[in-house]
Amino acid sequence: MSGPWERRWHLLFDEWVVISASSAARPWAGARSEGAKAAVPQHDPSCYLCPGVTRASGDVNPDYKGPFAFDNDFPTFAGHAPTPTHALDTAPNEQALSQNPFAIVAASRGQCRVLCWSDRHDMTLADLPVEAMGDVAKLWQSEFIVLKSNDEVKQALLFENKGVEIGVSNLHPHGQAYGIPFVTTNTKRMRTAQARYAKQHGRSLLVDMLQHDSVKDILIVEKAKHWSVVVPFAARFAYETWIVPHVAVTDISEINEEVLLELGEVYHRQARRYDALFQRQSPNITHFHNAPCDNDPDNTHWCFHLAFQPPLREPDKLKYIAGFESAAGNMTNPVQPELAAARLRELNI
Ligand SMILES: [Zn+2]
Repeated sequence: MSGPWERRWHLLFDEWVVISASSAARPWAGARSEGAKAAVPQHDPSCYLCPGVTRASGDVNPDYKGPFAFDNDFPTFAGHAPTPTHALDTAPNEQALSQNPFAIVAASRGQCRVLCWSDRHDMTLADLPVEAMGDVAKLWQSEFIVLKSNDEVKQALLFENKGVEIGVSNLHPHGQAYGIPFVTTNTKRMRTAQARYAKQHGRSLLVDMLQHDSVKDILIVEKAKHWSVVVPFAARFAYETWIVPHVAVTDISEINEEVLLELGEVYHRQARRYDALFQRQSPNITHFHNAPCDNDPDNTHWCFHLAFQPPLREPDKLKYIAGFESAAGNMTNPVQPELAAARLRELNI
């Protein structure tokens, strides 16, 4: 066995991650992942994200070029969501939990947006020319501002699910933005950890992380002018990376155009690294971690960042959320984070 066999503390989630390089050496007789096999056309008239297509709602997409966003026709959260009988407006308090913990319910009000990165049905963000990333980055920012200004929304969550391996229903390159009427569980944990550190040290947890001896020069994949790409010390996924700013901002609406445009370029390079690492269009889940918009005073200690969570551990092997992870909540990672960073750093993109 090479590599560590240990538990590492996740600085944002306040939990153990099991780094288990020994499990990577197990004989593999399981499924092999190949991704999508069929050739993908430039324009698909049956794709409801393509230009000029009539969607399920009856709306017709404009003949757009570049990025384009619209309200999801099948939203998880929407302004017209019904109010259930006996619905609560907020999370249940102690009295509600003690009197009747069996059927607590609230309305799913909010807003869901679909964010098309390009008019091209067949291109991922990594395939697009880097010049196209400026408009994509501006869409990330403007869509966040749309959701943040919605009074129903307590958290705006932008993310991309990419690849058939993680169940994407439409291959058109796109992300999603959810305006959610509550602060999600992981976000609460991340806020608590960042606020605790900032109150003790007067600085940002994530910005300080970039300078720590265990991280700088070892876990950094790329250091640009305004952003660094880093493998977290307690990475929960093999080849997980974060894009962290050198100066903390609470959300993407606070960064100026120069910083925003560099974020697009850094994102583009990291997406290309994953394609180079796995030698194909790499599946991925990408999160944009903005501070919640619920007016909690601890939001001021939040540091906006991005997280890539690729589901592959090797080019043809998926990392499954199986018995241990689903029962425990804690993750096991079969790849030593320092080794993952070195491999990503050495790629020719
Ligand atoms: Zn399409």
